[in-house]
Amino acid sequence: MTTQVENFPGWPEGVQGPELIDNMKKQAARFGADFQLAHLNAVDLNVNPFRLQTSAGEIPARTLIVASGASARWLGLPSEQALIGHGVSSCATCDGFFFRGKEVAVVGGGDSAMEEALFLTRFASKITLLHRRPGFRASKIMLERVMAHTKIELRTNVVIEEVLGVEEKEVKGVRLRDVANGTKSILPISGLFLGIGHEPNTKMFSGQIDLDGDGYIRTTGNVLVTRNGVVVPGLFACGDVQDRRYRQAITAAGSGCMAALEAEKFLEEHGH
Ligand SMILES: Cc1cc2nc3c(=O)[nH]c(=O)nc-3n(C[C@H](O)[C@H](O)[C@H](O)COP(=O)(O)OP(=O)(O)OC[C@H]3O[C@@H](n4cnc5c(N)ncnc54)[C@H](O)[C@@H]3O)c2cc1C
Repeated sequence: MTTQVENFPGWPEGVQGPELIDNMKKQAARFGADFQLAHLNAVDLNVNPFRLQTSAGEIPARTLIVASGASARWLGLPSEQALIGHGVSSCATCDGFFFRGKEVAVVGGGDSAMEEALFLTRFASKITLLHRRPGFRASKIMLERVMAHTKIELRTNVVIEEVLGVEEKEVKGVRLRDVANGTKSILPISGLFLGIGHEPNTKMFSGQIDLDGDGYIRTTGNVLVTRNGVVVPGLFACGDVQDRRYRQAITAAGSGCMAALEAEKFLEEHGH
């Protein structure tokens, strides 16, 4: 789903996500990697080789690198889904650059929404922070920073009913409903940023490894995975599934490299 990546080192003009991955895949193939497209449904991590139940059958694995990522939470409106990549985004760090001098909105009431809004002040001319409740969950310090910023306006008690611009294929605004009195209004904007969190793709590992309260994989030594605080031999995790802080292509690639080196070391040490 990653569209234009402007900040991956070595691509001064930016690169499309699929092109970047295609190149990485070709490079891995040159070093002998095999590829198999399959959905992982369940795992047994209590045995080694681990047993992976996939849509392509059972796969045994002496080592496993979990890189299943984290999916952004969306509002679920059809108009929002239709405009992802055309003005609707879940990542200000990635896409803020495209909104230089434009008016945008951020949805959410927690620290992620505050961070997105503050980051966007570098580019956008105005940011409206939309929240469906009267109060904010965000930490006091983040909220204070947001409230003090002249480019950010807060609007509470509002929900988005529709993102406007589906026919034009670019965000033109949002239709809002005031949850207190039902009044509807239009907010003209060029970009809508979702700041309502991410969901790590770890359901299939739940109960077998240590996850944090939001389901991200807890790692030690950068990429080693634990069960009840003890390292599970041969099991590694990298990228967004274990990183709630940075969530960038380059940081995912960096930790992926660490996991690959650890996996190689593990196999060598065990005589494989
Ligand atoms: C629209 C958009 C724009 C972005 N722009 C930028 C940018 O400009 N710069 C930047 O640095 N970052 C950007 N990002 C973030 C960047 O894409 C991520 O940080 C990066 O892709 C994380 O890599 P990852 O390998 O950890 O996870 P992902 O790239 O999310 O890959 C996880 C993979 O695991 C697969 N998977 C999940 N569950 C299963 C399962 N059960 N079985 C099999 N496969 C499974 C998924 O299908 C997916 O292919 C953007 C993200 C989005 C959505």
